[in-house]
Amino acid sequence: MSNGIEPVGVDADYVVRMAQELIRIPAENPPGNCMDVADRMLTELKSLGVDRIETHEFEPGMPNYIIQTGDGGDGGHLVIGGHMDTVPVHPDEVEAWQVGPFSGELRGDEIWGRGAADMKGALASTLGAFKALRDNQISLPGTLTWVLLSDGEHGDQHGAQALADRGILKNLGGDMVLYTESTSNNIIRSFKGRVFFEIKVRGRSVHVSVPEKGINAIEKMAKIIGAFRAERLGVEPDPFLGRSTLAFSTIKGGSAVNVVGGRCSATFDVRMIPGQTSTGVMATLNGIIDELKQDDPEMDAELGIIPSGAREVTEIAENEPVVRLMERVIPSVRGTPNTFLPGIESPGALRLFIQNGIPGVFFGPGEFISEAHLPNERVPTKNLIEGAAMLATAARAHCSGVGH
Ligand SMILES: [Zn+2]
Repeated sequence: MSNGIEPVGVDADYVVRMAQELIRIPAENPPGNCMDVADRMLTELKSLGVDRIETHEFEPGMPNYIIQTGDGGDGGHLVIGGHMDTVPVHPDEVEAWQVGPFSGELRGDEIWGRGAADMKGALASTLGAFKALRDNQISLPGTLTWVLLSDGEHGDQHGAQALADRGILKNLGGDMVLYTESTSNNIIRSFKGRVFFEIKVRGRSVHVSVPEKGINAIEKMAKIIGAFRAERLGVEPDPFLGRSTLAFSTIKGGSAVNVVGGRCSATFDVRMIPGQTSTGVMATLNGIIDELKQDDPEMDAELGIIPSGAREVTEIAENEPVVRLMERVIPSVRGTPNTFLPGIESPGALRLFIQNGIPGVFFGPGEFISEAHLPNERVPTKNLIEGAAMLATAARAHCSGVGH
């Protein structure tokens, strides 16, 4: 497909072999020790002549690396981000596996094993991209940085969050980031947000034989639950992310079977789409409570956001340079265009890059919904090889200035 970008050729056998090797080195999180897989990758990078490697280890066994190549002069600065750890293989999941979860077995045209899709496969593709730049003697006038992280599957505390807290992400100065979560080499540029709420209703307990003398907090809560509908959050469905949702998750109330419930509390979750913020949702819901109070003066309810439960919507505009670059790179390699996928899950570490001035997207081999985190996780080799070619092609285009 001619769009001004020539694809970079990659060593397909190398990408497949590296994916198998990396799957065979467990890095389950928890506990999250990435030392062995990191050692293997660093040895590989050094043998490819990549030796500008900075280590940041804040928790023993959970190293993070800033790996760079290129002349650092005129030309763009592309960042690739990835995590080395995987979700664990639970004991009750082992029976469901058709292969050893750490076998890295090649079956037909797929590689199987924990991390095949999320994201040992993508790490192999990234190594393949570095190798392709070397094999094709492509020198980059700008900079290519690989931020290789620990703790990507367990909250990023010792990985991207630690780098962000110390100003290391901000000081990178990258133009854009490709965070290699599995998207079948497509782009995810918008992610739902979420906020956890608690609502408390106060009433007055009396003996159940004289309910009219009390205030039944449980009945008041029932009114609130009836009124808190997702449709009332006042936002149109998003073309990629679908609807905003509101779901009650826990409820507690009352003290005994023969006492009118004087207290009731409940928690619920709101998934937000572009156009919504946690404070905006809070205001809308408080407005609904005010309406209920007008009808019922005995309604005494207090709404609060559960601390640490709020994560705002993450969205990168369609005309951001990173999106425009990949919309040219993807078809140049595979002959079919990018498809925007919905970010239903958390943007994870990508959010921290964006907050530190590096706009980015999810882009990587493997299919998230059907493959990641599940028994029989696997990835088509074609997807890994194309992913490697796309990363190398993106690096050449952007770090030479073409992608600007
Ligand atoms: Zn992941």
